[in-house]
Amino acid sequence: MRFVGGIRTEATEGRLFFVSKGQSLAIERRDGAPHVPVGRAPVGAIFLGTIGDEAYFAADASEGPELEIISLRHLFGALHDEEFAVAQRALGLVAWDQDHRHCGRCGAPTERSQTERSRVCTKCGFGVYPRISPAVIMLVEREGKALLARSHRFPVPFFSALAGFVELGETLEETVVREVHEEAGITVTNVRYFGSQPWPLGGSLMVGFNCDWAAGEIVLEDAELAEADWFAPNALPVVPPKLSIARALIDDFVARHAG
Ligand SMILES: [Zn+2]
Repeated sequence: MRFVGGIRTEATEGRLFFVSKGQSLAIERRDGAPHVPVGRAPVGAIFLGTIGDEAYFAADASEGPELEIISLRHLFGALHDEEFAVAQRALGLVAWDQDHRHCGRCGAPTERSQTERSRVCTKCGFGVYPRISPAVIMLVEREGKALLARSHRFPVPFFSALAGFVELGETLEETVVREVHEEAGITVTNVRYFGSQPWPLGGSLMVGFNCDWAAGEIVLEDAELAEADWFAPNALPVVPPKLSIARALIDDFVARHAG
């Protein structure tokens, strides 16, 4: 069954995503498996939408019962895919709702719109919508090898595809070309769309691309990268976990060269 988003509902009960610190959820454990709590939505909960007959709400964990808190990452595979996607929305929307209690234009309090996903200033009427920050991630290929890099920022030392945020006025393809050049000193061509992945932390949308090496040798100009190299599909370093589009790009690269 598919998720159908909504703003208002008659429902007062449903599945409740209690968000903790913007990146974790309160869950109930039954037979060891995590479940989304079911019950009456607290006052001020955000209605997210429905899956079938089931209404979904989000609220801050401080509004809910004392339950086990678990990182969203650890719910991947434990919730079904549709529900996991709603959990991502819950995290993003609770953070957005909390961050925009006051108008950025005049400073007066805002309130939730009853007709669309926005908060509206009670004084000047200025509306604030959830913002999405697009970022690109790209697998660069050269003669059957992929450019992978290790960032100082990664909590564990794995190698991944290069990535970066889109700047104002840029097309996604231009961001791909600019980022690879800035971070690794390489010129790329033939930029092709691969797929995308929403990520609620920081409200980003990762857009994946494949592209080909055109010129240049690896020069780490950006202080962000610790190491970068070309890797053959049968000699990969430690790569990111399955959850990520980075891993999907790398798996696709390996699959294409398997034969
Ligand atoms: Zn205002």
